[in-house]
Amino acid sequence: QQSALLTTVLIISRRKIVSKRGASFTLMVCGESGLGKTTFVNTLFSTSVKSYADNRRRHAKQTSQTVEIEITKAELEERDFRIRLTVVDTPGFGDYVNNKEAWTPIVEFLDDQHESFMVQEQQPHRAEKVDMRVHACLYFIRPTGHTLKPLDIEVMKRLSTRVNLIPVIAKADTISSEDLAEFKLRIRQVIEAQDIKVYTPPIEDDDPLMADKAREIIAAMPYAVIGSETDVQTADGRVVKGRQYLWGVAEVENEEHCDFVKLRDLLIRIDMLDLIYSTEEKHYEAYRLQQMETRKF
Ligand code: GDP
Repeated sequence: QQSALLTTVLIISRRKIVSKRGASFTLMVCGESGLGKTTFVNTLFSTSVKSYADNRRRHAKQTSQTVEIEITKAELEERDFRIRLTVVDTPGFGDYVNNKEAWTPIVEFLDDQHESFMVQEQQPHRAEKVDMRVHACLYFIRPTGHTLKPLDIEVMKRLSTRVNLIPVIAKADTISSEDLAEFKLRIRQVIEAQDIKVYTPPIEDDDPLMADKAREIIAAMPYAVIGSETDVQTADGRVVKGRQYLWGVAEVENEEHCDFVKLRDLLIRIDMLDLIYSTEEKHYEAYRLQQMETRKF
């Protein structure tokens, strides 16, 4: 796993996107409020972060009051590889179910980051660029057990043309494993039928172990997650991050219980560099070309 990571680092570092020892990674979470987005981010941090950078700040767009965008920064270290993680939280989204334009501020935020980077690239001097382009967007789906709502489909369509979109089923502990399997299948069918382009990790065929791991990760989409900020004790005495029930503990980091570990592997341990690279090559390039076309006329 480490050798694959290093190879990718070396290849990509030639393109000056990341250096051998570190990278900046921006993750966005969106979906209805109350689905556990904040809890998920804190769970991700508490199971991975070495040190928090104490620079929480709020970014509120003046043009719209619909969504307030909040930015948190932290630093992670994975095997001497330092990750400067920025999380863009979009609380409140979906509270305005009747408002058809509920997604506009999120889409604007994504485009604004591309625009700002493009403007900086066009400057003659080589100042260090401020880069807030979003590398991955987790879209939280309510665990209804039915199917995607029309609003989910609308928003996911718009996001998928701008950012690496990763669908997530929230609060996986509130739905039985049979219902969850059915729900996942239905969501995958809708995603395919609606031609929503979700992020799919690459399969590196030259490393069979990594290739199998990648296939497992791809097969688990949409990722069912359990978030918890507290440690609980299991019946066999282990202390884990989880949610306590009368029947036992729903464990965050147990792959039998949910896909948190797979999603964390995808985001932080295996596919982070591909997410950074594809943001640059696919989404930023698409934005740049589109802008060049429109500005010609
Ligand atoms: P947000 O509005 O999407 O950021 O949601 P929050 O993180 O504030 O969570 C809303 C509520 O859901 C809180 O009471 C959390 O404790 C609870 N919650 C968060 N994650 C989970 C989960 O995985 N399972 C369950 N059952 N509850 C959760």
